[in-house]
Amino acid sequence: MRYSEALSKRLFIVAALAVAIAVIFVVRKGRDGDNAGFTQWERDVITLSDSVMYVTVLPQDSTILRTPSRDFTPEQLKDPLLGTLKAKMFSTVTDPSQDGVGIAGPQVGINRRIIWVQRLDKENEPFECYLNIRIDSLYGAVSLGPEGCLSVPGKRGLVPRYESVKISYVDSGTLEPRKEKVSGYTAIIFQHECDHLEGTLYIDKADSVFVSQSWVQEREAYTYNKPSWWR
Ligand SMILES: [Zn+2]
Repeated sequence: MRYSEALSKRLFIVAALAVAIAVIFVVRKGRDGDNAGFTQWERDVITLSDSVMYVTVLPQDSTILRTPSRDFTPEQLKDPLLGTLKAKMFSTVTDPSQDGVGIAGPQVGINRRIIWVQRLDKENEPFECYLNIRIDSLYGAVSLGPEGCLSVPGKRGLVPRYESVKISYVDSGTLEPRKEKVSGYTAIIFQHECDHLEGTLYIDKADSVFVSQSWVQEREAYTYNKPSWWR
């Protein structure tokens, strides 16, 4: 074989590989890209869950709890399934068995940027839902305070948190982008819930973690309630 033939053969192989990679990219983009709908797993969690959803816990659900969450795509934001997810997460965090002040997507098996936060800084302390939320900045004094987590039953810890946060998010009613400053204990709830969306738990940041006996029983309740269809 002459040098030029070998070269053109190599060029052909490189070109063929480039086309194959481009095809794989386009196919993946169509499946997981900006306009993708909910995955089959997300559909299962949203439709098959009871109104009070199974709450993921360490250690058996560490993969979900440790995976950073993605934004909802434009198609997902318009999907009625998102309304179902919001309603079920609200029922879950407000259920007397949970008694939470906040909950994040990964805690119900959904690695998307959704949280519910009880606005203790507002009249009547309403729960509000935030989509595609991010903390833009943290500011003010840092102080240690006690925290627990529905996903870390049996434990509590002392965690350093900033006094105030600036957040940006998509309004769950109008789907408009919003920015807001929050201070006080509600800002700590935002920090805790937004950490969940990065795969971070309060025990990662705590100065100290200790066992809380009354919470040990909750762990058994969660395990018992794990649905049969859960992967
Ligand atoms: Zn938590």
